[in-house]
Amino acid sequence: MLTVNAIAATSPTAPLEKTTIERRDLGANDVLIEVKYSGVCHSDIHTVRGDWGPVKYPLTVGHEIVGIVAEVGSAVTRHQVGERVGVGCMVNSCRECENCLAGEEQYCLKGNVGTYAAVDRDGTITQGGYSTHVVVTEDFVLTVPESIPFEKAAPLLCAGITTYSPLKHWNAGPGKKVAVVGMGGLGHMAVKIAVALGAEVTVLSQSLSKQEDGLAFGAEHYYATSDPETFKNLRNTFDLIINSVSAPLDINAYLSLLRLDGTLVNVGAPAEPLPVRAFSLIGARRSFAGSNIGGIRETQEMLDFCAEHNIAPETELINADYINEAYERVLKSDVRYRFVIDIATLV
Ligand SMILES: [Zn+2]
Ligand SMILES: [Zn+2]
Repeated sequence: MLTVNAIAATSPTAPLEKTTIERRDLGANDVLIEVKYSGVCHSDIHTVRGDWGPVKYPLTVGHEIVGIVAEVGSAVTRHQVGERVGVGCMVNSCRECENCLAGEEQYCLKGNVGTYAAVDRDGTITQGGYSTHVVVTEDFVLTVPESIPFEKAAPLLCAGITTYSPLKHWNAGPGKKVAVVGMGGLGHMAVKIAVALGAEVTVLSQSLSKQEDGLAFGAEHYYATSDPETFKNLRNTFDLIINSVSAPLDINAYLSLLRLDGTLVNVGAPAEPLPVRAFSLIGARRSFAGSNIGGIRETQEMLDFCAEHNIAPETELINADYINEAYERVLKSDVRYRFVIDIATLV
């Protein structure tokens, strides 16, 4: 076992604190990663605070991890010491169900093993990336292209793939009108990726406070959803809407913005049900869908795509000591657009 520095939650309400955690001994197929940067995702906060169900404490979260390979197991072939690598939201899956065999490990029929707060195959509880080191089986370790600034690569592992996967699946591209609901960590990546895919992109945000940013990221239009005129003017407009908002919204109002055969995809995950009227769908053969991160192969494809198109998240680098303030600011949507912990400050 390797004892390493980490930031952990000790209860749903106590501030996170610095501590040490244990990493398993390197197995034949494992990679030991010296973590350099770790993104702060809203899911981390929901998890440590028990919003999505009880968790075991102490718990270290973080599933936007980039670092350098420090050591590899004897059977590792995909990665080598010194390589820039990343780990996202999952660290294992059954590898034999039909979804795993199709490269969609995130939809593993036996449940993928989450990067934190999940029961790993050895029975231990997984611990995430707010830590100096992590041990991960090589098949769930991504290669981070050299041209992506390292600290900006971290949020691609969750926010990037969560938006890339549905944009690809529902064919965002030239000639397609795509709307992105919400301009936070996920939303701003959805805008950048959809623009790079060639779609005509519209941002639908509560206010116009981030309009300048949205247009700078390549969106052609930006509307405030607090203005009822927005919903009147944009009826039957979009081929695809990506909803990145985790709070309940009037889904029927957004469905009315889809043109014939359009799809509204939820990547935000509010705890409450979202009521949908049948008439919102049947009036224009519309679909209401959901999407969860992306498979390992697709995550690598996304990283390579971002490198090729010079896309990176907007980040604010923080010290480990700042994590509790960062959480409060994430909850107030006061971040443009992702906090990233400089793990060097955790040593
Ligand atoms: Zn996340
Ligand atoms: Zn599986």
